[in-house]
Amino acid sequence: MSISNLEELGKILSLKEEEKNWTETGPSLSMLISDNIISLINPADPDDPIRKEFVPTMYENIESKESIDPLKEVENTKSARLIHRYNNRAALLVTSRCFAYCRHCFRRRFTSGDDGKITRDELEKAAEYLRRHKEIREVLITGGDMFTLSDMELDILLGKLKQAREDIIYRLCTRAFLANPERFTPSLMEIIKKHMHGAPFLLMCQFNHPRELNEKAVKAVSAFIDMGIPAFNQAVLLEGVNDDVDTLEELSYKLLYNRIKPYYLFQGDLVDGTAHLRCSLKKGLELEKELRKRVSGVAMPQYTMDLPEGGGKVILTENYVIGLTDGKWQIKSPFQGKRDYPEKSIN
Ligand code: SF4
Repeated sequence: MSISNLEELGKILSLKEEEKNWTETGPSLSMLISDNIISLINPADPDDPIRKEFVPTMYENIESKESIDPLKEVENTKSARLIHRYNNRAALLVTSRCFAYCRHCFRRRFTSGDDGKITRDELEKAAEYLRRHKEIREVLITGGDMFTLSDMELDILLGKLKQAREDIIYRLCTRAFLANPERFTPSLMEIIKKHMHGAPFLLMCQFNHPRELNEKAVKAVSAFIDMGIPAFNQAVLLEGVNDDVDTLEELSYKLLYNRIKPYYLFQGDLVDGTAHLRCSLKKGLELEKELRKRVSGVAMPQYTMDLPEGGGKVILTENYVIGLTDGKWQIKSPFQGKRDYPEKSIN
């Protein structure tokens, strides 16, 4: 059973004042917390990190000058539900539903809203767009969460997309491993397998805290990896959830031990209603610097910002390159001091 209102939630958790005073107003995200998520929350800890991710608070209601669409997805929607913002890739929003709604969701203008599932006609138009735009090499199948669709709907969706362009790398984007790992039944996995021809599928997960990688979640991800689908993690840096280097280090290694590559650590987007969960950029840069010292290259996610007003993605890191003097680059060591590196010369 999922919890969808404060009254039900109050029977399970002792609600804090800021939680009691949350109201669903304007273009805001509904509340939905799945059983699996409830079971991960420590009711005795009012500052439990998983609680912070899913239990809404009145801080979401504070009016801000931030945007509901900072990535300019709406103006880059080229066919119904198909966002084509970067030349070589696109995102297809196949549903507005998720198994649970993360309070930091950057797409809250759409998620949990009335759009519902992609229609046959919209899917046909998206497929036609992909056929015409050969420059597109990757498509993110997202929403919402694609796995809220039924087996039959997913079969139709994947069949139609593969039929349109078998050479596209489709990224399967989901948080269902955490919210509803039981969704990944043998019959669903058979459907995925059926469509594994042509370019590969990539699995894009979102685990923000090491505790989210529990046995059920790991088992469900493993089913994809065992079929030959590589798994990547896109975490979001969140205040009170994972904004300390010990937690980030543990998350990175827990992911890697479970064959999931830590891929991105996102700086929160400037989305209306999410400011209270956003970590400061100053702290984020310090965390990135410290994490880089502690983990190997494969365990290090790219700390990344999606620039406001649709400016695109940039990697955020300490500036290690000091400059070029007398044919030698001076480069800061992440540990101590600096080193010289000669500029290539033809002489
Ligand atoms: S699962 Fe993804 S789309 Fe759904 S609420 Fe969370 S961040 Fe948003």
